[in-house]
Amino acid sequence: MAKKILILGVNGFIGNSLSEALLRKTDAEIFGIDMNNDKLENCLQHPKFHFTEGDITINKEWVEYHIKRCDVLLPLVAIATPATYVTHPLSIFELDFEANLDIIKKAVKYKRRVIFPSTSEVYGMCPEPEFNEETSALVTGPINKPRWIYSTSKQLMDRVIFAYGMQHDFQYSLFRPFNWVGPKLDDILNPKAGGSRVLTQFIGNILRGEDIKLVDGGEQRRCFTYIDDGVDALLRIIENKDGNANQRIFNVGNPKNDYSIRELAEMLVKIIKTYPKYAKQAEKTKIINVSSAEYYGKGYQDVPSRVPSVENAEKYLGWKPTTDMETLLRNTLDFYLK
Ligand code: UDP
Repeated sequence: MAKKILILGVNGFIGNSLSEALLRKTDAEIFGIDMNNDKLENCLQHPKFHFTEGDITINKEWVEYHIKRCDVLLPLVAIATPATYVTHPLSIFELDFEANLDIIKKAVKYKRRVIFPSTSEVYGMCPEPEFNEETSALVTGPINKPRWIYSTSKQLMDRVIFAYGMQHDFQYSLFRPFNWVGPKLDDILNPKAGGSRVLTQFIGNILRGEDIKLVDGGEQRRCFTYIDDGVDALLRIIENKDGNANQRIFNVGNPKNDYSIRELAEMLVKIIKTYPKYAKQAEKTKIINVSSAEYYGKGYQDVPSRVPSVENAEKYLGWKPTTDMETLLRNTLDFYLK
């Protein structure tokens, strides 16, 4: 296991869970930077955890110094909420692409290994029943649908990283999360408009006595993946046994948890009815339909179905997701409701 790990965006949903797991299961030393530290209560006091409050786009010297100092780098700073793709596409380009490109170039300069978050969004509206890292087409929509700026910014970054691998022997691993969910995903008590992912959005709707809104009927499907399964894949990528993760791309998702958004809403209402304190709220909840233009604006276009092939992760990392939908929902609800 690598000794020194640098995590940019360490307080994020993935960063904080990964840090906890690294501290619990390995002897790695973690250097992390973030603008906030509210999700790091289990890490901050640990002798092997070093936190700096800062912004990677401002504290560039700190970042460069730590890239030099560490063995492995995980640049996890990005905006990943669809509502923002539609309202502020340039912010996505500036942070997810430009700021991260600067970091990749430094990792190339100092020959450091990078584990970079690609996304299941790169496959876009790919019609294949299962998305494969090496063979699937990446299908996006027209320019007047800014929703695709996230997908294409990430795609170009994947291509740049791949090219550095080809031409400079850059050591990287790309991982593509498929709707990772779990405790600490979003803040459901202080909702920002469109600032949360569908699961936390729906939990918040139920708790606040609002209707659950199914965008365009809710027939679109996602494979929901529990954060602990995702983090387990990351630990294996970091470990990089026999160099098996080098210069590879991994889908990290649970193909068995393939549900429509409508099914997700119905399951949630049903399960929340079993929490005595919130049962009444759940009884009252209405599930309604809204158009995507109404919900997100004209620049939105949806992904109808998104199922990962996880053969590569199994073959090269010995990884398989194990958390089923019921368990994943209950664990997440226990965190938010108890
Ligand atoms: N969605 C919905 N109602 C909401 C929020 C989201 O129907 O209140 C839908 C959204 O249109 C998308 C799916 O749920 O089809 C998943 O949305 P999320 O924001 O979690 O991210 P995505 O998987 O699209 O990246």
